[in-house]
Amino acid sequence: MAKTVVILGGSLGGLHVAHALLKKGDKDLKVVLVTKNTHFYWNLAAVRAIIPGQIKDEDIFKPLESALSRYPAESWELVIGTASAANFDNNTVEVVISADNSSRTFSYDHLVLATGARCPSSTVPWKAMGSYDEAIDNLHTTTARVKDAQSIVVAGAGSTGIEVAGELGYEYGKTKNITLLCSGDQVLGGTSAASAAANELKKLNVNIKYGAFVKESRPNATDKNKTDVVLADGEVILTDVYLPTTGLIPNTEYIPARYLSADPNYRTVLVNDFLQVEGTKNVWACGDVVSKPRAGFFITQKQAASVARNVQAALAGQEPAVAKGPPVDIFACSVGRDRGVGRINDKIKLPSLMVWLAKGRTLALQMIPGYIDGSVA
Ligand SMILES: Cc1cc2nc3c(=O)[nH]c(=O)nc-3n(C[C@H](O)[C@H](O)[C@H](O)COP(=O)(O)OP(=O)(O)OC[C@H]3O[C@@H](n4cnc5c(N)ncnc54)[C@H](O)[C@@H]3O)c2cc1C
Repeated sequence: MAKTVVILGGSLGGLHVAHALLKKGDKDLKVVLVTKNTHFYWNLAAVRAIIPGQIKDEDIFKPLESALSRYPAESWELVIGTASAANFDNNTVEVVISADNSSRTFSYDHLVLATGARCPSSTVPWKAMGSYDEAIDNLHTTTARVKDAQSIVVAGAGSTGIEVAGELGYEYGKTKNITLLCSGDQVLGGTSAASAAANELKKLNVNIKYGAFVKESRPNATDKNKTDVVLADGEVILTDVYLPTTGLIPNTEYIPARYLSADPNYRTVLVNDFLQVEGTKNVWACGDVVSKPRAGFFITQKQAASVARNVQAALAGQEPAVAKGPPVDIFACSVGRDRGVGRINDKIKLPSLMVWLAKGRTLALQMIPGYIDGSVA
């Protein structure tokens, strides 16, 4: 009898696993990809897509259907919906179907959790958090607000915050007031690329405010189009546009609590060395839903490949293999459209030109075709 693998999440992790399984051409396997968005979103380029005229919608969003339709129709199903409950004892997942809000139950032989993580604010476009229409609307709204703003505050001096501030500084450093709020005394958590990143931002006229921990943001009382950004020390910064980049939240609400980390603020899925969810035999997870060793694109790619291999092994009655991460920890952060900073294993600094060539020039948009034609897997 045909086996069913249900994959939850159609982004970098989930689509990769789907391709890897479908490419094998196993006639006894059906892959069901359940995801909220009809489109694959290259969120790595979102930091530049908020600058008007830089990236076209059709270059950053690609229909998932076009990725899967290269495989025999009976071997896959694309379900646009939200996983709302999973029962790992009964091998079932409940999904709320986006089109009509109906509920559908899927039974699986193997389940892959790739539902990633979302931003705490639903108004920033760093991840595609709802439907395609919502995601594109969010991106367009942000772009329009950025265009009209005189002042923009970016909160969070991690890699996303640096990249956003860098793009804004590159385009508007001489014409708008761009501020990056850093909660500590160094950007990038003080890692070896920190001072280079701060220097690059200064060259782009980005004002970095250190020791600035955001307590809350709220519409300004007299002008609702502006935002009050309230810092922990009581200071209130008034800005036209506020772009928080901090604190991703794992999309794990549909998973029973006993399979999740105990940290109430960061409920990732607990996996073993095979990326098998702890306490299960046929549930696997990859990417930001695991965030181990950290949330990242290359880590997601490697984990997706391992999960696909282990699902295939399990279907063939074989033992799983320990998942391998990237051989070295490479960190690359673009700062504006022609510079960047990076490091390998926090020891070797990467020259700006190398980061620009490898990442900043295109923000890796050229990798999207591989996710559509399946060559990534
Ligand atoms: C702005 C930005 C820039 C980045 N740049 C880099 C970079 O340069 N290098 C790097 O290494 N990493 C980068 N990252 C990290 C990288 O984007 C993530 O590691 C990667 O997106 C993880 O992919 P994923 O498939 O695990 O999850 P996600 O990309 O979070 O996707 C999860 C998918 O699951 C869907 N989903 C969520 N909940 C449900 C549900 N209940 N039911 C069904 N579907 C659901 C979502 O709609 C989405 O399609 C960046 C992150 C951000 C935010």
